[in-house]
Amino acid sequence: MTPVEERLKRRIAAERSISVADYMAEANAHYYAGRDPLGIAGDFITAPEISQMFGELIGVWLADLWTRAGRPEKARYVELGPGRGTLAEDALRAMRGAGLEPTLEMVETSPALRRAQAERLPAPRWHDEVATLPADGPLLIVANEFFDALPIHQFDGDGEELRVTLRDDRFVRDPAATVTETSPASIAVLRELARRLVSQGGVALIIDYGHDRPGIGDTLQAVSQHQYADPWQAPGSRDLTAHVDFSALAEAARTEGVRHFGPVGQGDWLEAMGIQLRAASLAKAAPERIEEIAAARDRLTAFSQMGRLFRVLALAAPGWPEPAGL
Ligand code: SAH
Repeated sequence: MTPVEERLKRRIAAERSISVADYMAEANAHYYAGRDPLGIAGDFITAPEISQMFGELIGVWLADLWTRAGRPEKARYVELGPGRGTLAEDALRAMRGAGLEPTLEMVETSPALRRAQAERLPAPRWHDEVATLPADGPLLIVANEFFDALPIHQFDGDGEELRVTLRDDRFVRDPAATVTETSPASIAVLRELARRLVSQGGVALIIDYGHDRPGIGDTLQAVSQHQYADPWQAPGSRDLTAHVDFSALAEAARTEGVRHFGPVGQGDWLEAMGIQLRAASLAKAAPERIEEIAAARDRLTAFSQMGRLFRVLALAAPGWPEPAGL
């Protein structure tokens, strides 16, 4: 039995039951703390790990907004859950090309992933939470596959919260005919970001898998070694995620006085940002990689792959220009 499994079982024994959110939070904190889950040898692959084009186009998007905002000083690149730092590295290269050299502010709790980020990024500063981000300078915020890892609560059709208990020493969640979900943790992060955008200026780009309207259904899932797994077994050793409710994030931004754009599909956004041109120029520079580059482009954009399920939502501070591609 893993330490987190033991801890969860002790908690349930003491409290009779815990929320799905408590289960997910504890399992994921342990899961990310000790490992780099990304890549072939890990549990899952994310867009920046598929191709440099992803991070580069995000860098181009940020640099374009910063330029049209009048090239303000003290710009801060903020990434939530930066993984290996690959997206930031690719985005920085593109931003530098446009004369933008922001400080690096990484919201990351995992010691293992902080180490990975330190290896490839110049002088990143780490934050356990959004609250400690610098209070001055416009924020250029990126979150790819971050919100899906934050804890959700689940409810049945009557609005009764579903709880996790033990049966025969195994985790079981209350049964329900219909399930709805909320993520107060996600809303709290988003509202804090929106407040910062209002007071400091800047923009945010949020990319994740999820739905545009409040969804009904149990979307909690576990992934281990590139396969779907049972979320109620071996907590802390598999990645737990849930669909992101983009309408709830957009509503939270609106409440704080921040404009939102999208969500649109990741495929449409990457096309609008010029992924075809970028792929063509990469292929020209490395003709031996032409098939690999085309395959990566398709994986990121095709509707049957990441192009439609992954959504892109942008936020812009009052007075900041309208973002490209949404
Ligand atoms: N954005 C990266 C990694 C996605 S995995 C990529 O696209 O490759 C999720 C990331 O969020 C990891 O870096 C993980 O350590 C981080 N994370 C998960 N929960 C977090 C939390 N509550 N606070 C801060 N970081 C968290």
